[in-house]
Amino acid sequence: MRVLLRRLAYVATFDTEDQELSDADILIDGPRIAAVGHDLHAGDADRVIDGTGLLALPGLINAHQHLFQASLRTLPPLERSGMPDFLRLQDELVLRRWREGRFGAADMRATARAVLAESVLGGVTTVADQHTVFPGAEPEPYVEAVIEAAAEVGVRLHAGRGSVTFSRARGGMVGDVFAEPVDAVIRHAEKLIAAHHDPEPYAMTRIVLAPSGVVADVPEMFRAFADLAAAHPGVRLHTHLHHHEDTRFARARFGTSPWRILTEHGFTGDRLWVAHGVTPPPEEIAEYAAAGIGVAHIPVADLKLGWGLAPVRRYLDAGVTLGFGTTGSMTNDGANLLGDLRVAALAHRAHRTDPGEWPTVRELLAMATRGSAACLGRPDLGSLAVGQAADIACWDLTTVDRAGTHDPLAALLFTGLSDIASLVLVNGTPVVEDGRLTRIDAATAAREVRALAAADGGRAR
Ligand SMILES: [Zn+2]
Repeated sequence: MRVLLRRLAYVATFDTEDQELSDADILIDGPRIAAVGHDLHAGDADRVIDGTGLLALPGLINAHQHLFQASLRTLPPLERSGMPDFLRLQDELVLRRWREGRFGAADMRATARAVLAESVLGGVTTVADQHTVFPGAEPEPYVEAVIEAAAEVGVRLHAGRGSVTFSRARGGMVGDVFAEPVDAVIRHAEKLIAAHHDPEPYAMTRIVLAPSGVVADVPEMFRAFADLAAAHPGVRLHTHLHHHEDTRFARARFGTSPWRILTEHGFTGDRLWVAHGVTPPPEEIAEYAAAGIGVAHIPVADLKLGWGLAPVRRYLDAGVTLGFGTTGSMTNDGANLLGDLRVAALAHRAHRTDPGEWPTVRELLAMATRGSAACLGRPDLGSLAVGQAADIACWDLTTVDRAGTHDPLAALLFTGLSDIASLVLVNGTPVVEDGRLTRIDAATAAREVRALAAADGGRAR
């Protein structure tokens, strides 16, 4: 299938030269971009899509998500509370649902389907999920259910096999019912890789080995995951690092930094990206750059939990790869990556008095496109150039709420009544057209998750 996007008002490529083009076309051949330029010929294109008035960007990439939390949004006790309360309530509600038969694979599939639908409507074409809770001795196929949901919606998924191996009884911060032996986690991760991991370019599904972090995992878990990743091309490592609580926890319990614990157990190198990075000791930042790890900036959850903001200017100056993510719905509530970019564009200004240190719109959008792609180990994603995957998100610049703007990218972040994209393609296939999902019905997806939340019967308060 060859598709021509014709006469796009503005194309921001985020390629190696940061090219931005007005009144340009993109030719797509199968899953890949065949050409980007002016006045491309439709030739033998099977379909020509009118791009008049549209701003085209590489599809946004959410580098940190916990899809299972989507039916646990806006819980009143969490409106103003920190991570210990969040973890306690997560334990309690997930455990109750599981005991009542309401935390199974089908529930997970419905939950993931709704958040992934929201994600693609907002221009996200790739999501990195980290599923960390596997209650009971024989856990349900949760990660498998998330993979099925992504295929339904048509979004690219990096499915993280999380873990809890160091629970409350041993001094950790997550409930004992979620604790699994390291060898059981590894056996399941091996099965997931064998069944679902595609190391090839344009892959729609990859497996990520994603322990919770030092507050919930034994050091042997990091070593075992690192060894498993080393044996499988394209399998990456991901965890939480320096979100504030782990910094404090590792210092109190182990007398060191969580980063030291990871590196001492081989959980490092350019296969690794971490989430948050809010409270790194300043001397560690150069080590991250030298090790080649990525850091996903998660500003909205970091602000909501009162952690403050990651030192993104220091990371950028040190040459650390920065991605961007929302994290899950218990600490962010929404999954609106573009909205979170807007928050970041403004919130950093409150913390630095020198305007030269504020992240620019283009720096932030680079984090959410090629930066997240680098975190995920996807050189085929995150930019609009020949040979890249045809993951493209387009927003309408001609609506009244964007009238009078002079910079299309700043207009996307700083104006607009809605962040819903007009057109989104993944591997050259439209998954959103005219602002609506093409694969599934959004209202049905929403109804299913409303029912899951309603079944708590108000007890989540
Ligand atoms: Zn997280």
